[in-house]
Amino acid sequence: MGLDKLRNLYQAVILDHANHPRNKHELPGATTTMTVHNPTCGDTINVQVQVHQNRIDEIAFTGSGCSISQASASMMTEAVKGKSTADAQRMAQTFSDMAIGKEHDNKDLQQLGDAQVLINIMQFPARIKCATISWWALERALAKEDQSGEQRSK
Ligand code: ZN
Repeated sequence: MGLDKLRNLYQAVILDHANHPRNKHELPGATTTMTVHNPTCGDTINVQVQVHQNRIDEIAFTGSGCSISQASASMMTEAVKGKSTADAQRMAQTFSDMAIGKEHDNKDLQQLGDAQVLINIMQFPARIKCATISWWALERALAKEDQSGEQRSK
């Protein structure tokens, strides 16, 4: 496939998620919610996770902002739903590494699902925050979940 065709394909995937975001709704049964704001672009992502026995049973997001931030949040929720919190944390790490240009094996990248197309955004430094904000919100939500989970089991 030519580079232009590939680029169009990436754009189509991103646009599809931006126009039809998956899991964009309130999650009434959420065990933890986390809101992160990106002042550079004005994106706000509120991630809501429902964790049970260290597994993300349900995840949803609400928020507003540019298409990259919304598409990325949609891709992130699809990628981590049903995963263990440890796997999800590792995926968030892979994604942030990708953002700073660190190499990862294909296996790690494939686990990200559609989110791996955002690697192409990383050549536009201004958009990196837009792409990573939802993963950042996820990481912070899971860290908070860990703490409150410990509290609950005490
Ligand atoms: Zn943005």
